Amino acid sequence: MERTLAIIKPDAVKKRIIGKIVGRIEEEGFGIVRMKLVHLTADEARGFYIVHKDKPFYGSLCEFMSSGPVVIMVLEAEEAIKRWRETMGATDPAKANPGTLRRAYGFSIERNAVHGSDARETAEFEINYFFKK
Ligand code: ATP
Ligand code: MG
Repeated sequence: MERTLAIIKPDAVKKRIIGKIVGRIEEEGFGIVRMKLVHLTADEARGFYIVHKDKPFYGSLCEFMSSGPVVIMVLEAEEAIKRWRETMGATDPAKANPGTLRRAYGFSIERNAVHGSDARETAEFEINYFFKK
């Protein structure tokens, strides 16, 4: 079994689709092993997305991620990292495959409804970032 970090981003929480996204997670067969609703500070968002600190969109991304509550979850499944990213779809909702969460619920390349870890090492960093042992 593998674990990944998933976030329902502020745009999706504002749209009142937490239930739809959690429903999809359960339908896909992921186990939800941790879950919390929090309003991140700008500093917490900056620390979480530190890998993007030199990208032109970093400031705007961190402002967006701290603009309202998010739902943070640890998901568990065989190949959870890859499978959750497939369920989310491409970063840009316009390029995401039909049937993916970002295609269904994303608004823009920034306001794209959900987050998922992209590798074993990042999943470990991200899970420990929000759920300290
Ligand atoms: P995430 O890490 O949130 O799961 P991702 O791995 O698909 O998304 P990354 O390249 O890691 O994409 O970018 C992190 C987040 O930064 C994106 O989900 C999106 O919210 C924002 N982002 C990425 N590229 C852009 C861009 N060109 N303009 C604005 N925001 C962007
Ligand atoms: Mg990423």
